[in-house]
Amino acid sequence: MVKRSKIKTPDWILKGESAPKSKTKGKTFKIRLCPKCNSDKVSVVIGEVGLWECKNCKWKGPNPKEKELSEDEFMEYLDNKEENEK
Ligand SMILES: [Zn+2]
Repeated sequence: MVKRSKIKTPDWILKGESAPKSKTKGKTFKIRLCPKCNSDKVSVVIGEVGLWECKNCKWKGPNPKEKELSEDEFMEYLDNKEENEK
């Protein structure tokens, strides 16, 4: 009996997508920063869709700055954050 091996084309090729990034090590975390004072004390305004507010300088707007951090950087960021909030 001849066994025919059929090579299955991965889905992402069929869909015409670029290769999945498997080489990126670890997770990345996105944090938001105030575009005015660079504070991370930005949060969504309750009751407003897509509106952000900075607790530090009272900036308000739809597009806070985004910064991508590696897991290590993010841990450091959390540590600093706790320090600041004491
Ligand atoms: Zn601010």
